[in-house]
Amino acid sequence: MKKGSLMPNLKLTLPHPDEVSLANFLTQSGTFMDGDLLVNRDGVRIVSQTEVEAPPPIQPADNQLSLADIDTIKVIGKGAGGIVQLVQHKWTGQFFALKVIQMNIDESYRRQIAQELKINQSAQCPYVVVCYQSFYDNGVISIILEYMDGGSLLDLLKKVKTIPEPYLAAISKQVLKGLLYLHHEKHVIHRDLKPSNLLINHRGEVKITDFGVSAILESTSGQANTFVGTYNYMSPERIIGGKYNNKSDIWSLGLVLLECATGKFPFIPPEQAEGWTNFYELMEAIVEKPPPSAPSDQFSPQFCSFISACVQKNPEDRQSAHELMTHPFVNMYGDLDIDLKSYFTSAGSPLATL
Ligand code: ATP
Ligand code: MG
Repeated sequence: MKKGSLMPNLKLTLPHPDEVSLANFLTQSGTFMDGDLLVNRDGVRIVSQTEVEAPPPIQPADNQLSLADIDTIKVIGKGAGGIVQLVQHKWTGQFFALKVIQMNIDESYRRQIAQELKINQSAQCPYVVVCYQSFYDNGVISIILEYMDGGSLLDLLKKVKTIPEPYLAAISKQVLKGLLYLHHEKHVIHRDLKPSNLLINHRGEVKITDFGVSAILESTSGQANTFVGTYNYMSPERIIGGKYNNKSDIWSLGLVLLECATGKFPFIPPEQAEGWTNFYELMEAIVEKPPPSAPSDQFSPQFCSFISACVQKNPEDRQSAHELMTHPFVNMYGDLDIDLKSYFTSAGSPLATL
């Protein structure tokens, strides 16, 4: 894309509080309401009482990040829903990631996106990627995110093939802190935890991103049963269409860490996982086969035990993020002062801004 060509004439700011929120659907003016979220060409506004009372997300510079004020540097990633670009604020020089999602899609998916915006904008945690602002215009949703200059764990894995245990322990600790926040403070199930949704930077930070498939639980003990998201890291209870809760993310975390440790997706090699037949075989394997485990001849007993604490077929047998924080694996390398910062930078992550 040409530098600076993104929506050149739009000056987008947060809407005025007096603005009337229209029906529950997209109108000709491009406004739609989803629950207590108002989305239109002027930005996204959360209109519920609870969200209004929550502290606002950290905003860069003058509080008014406008798409007209940012230059596109390059495309840094592509996902199922759209593209991610590295962008730079014209006046402050600050880098951001801009996620652009085409919205000419059906109602149910639009609701998911509205949900993503709502949760993202209210999330404030050092272990969760900051969403600064979101815009909706003419079928395109643009989300300005904190730029994570190391890319994702998927990008890293492609380079390093496997991640040694001490680094995995340090990564796990940060992901668990992010999950702790989402599960126990925001009452959100991520539902799409996978290597590409764990982002890293040159400071050695690991943050969870993408809540497009998340939902706010009705209450702390609530359950969610809408089917959304991708499949490889999906827990058995979700695959069979049952109810699921926070523990579903713990299953995914276990699979992600096992993949990072061994360099292979735990169920079947990814190259065989394509096509419909193999897709069903994979689903069947996740539901029917015993859970995967870390080979005890290659990994510490603590790591093997951690994986087993995550990847249990019965969600009730899995530990919570809270419990896993005190698992021996997470803390066994603590004294060694694990330097993720050097690891991420020397591993040759893209560091697109350097
Ligand atoms: P899916 O769409 O199925 O969820 P995905 O997670 O790979 O797949 P995206 O969320 O669009 O799709 O992300 C694509 C890639 O863009 C990521 O793998 C990562 O490399 C990069 N990326 C996403 N967000 C950021 C960000 N905030 N900072 C830096 N890079 C990012
Ligand atoms: Mg993603």
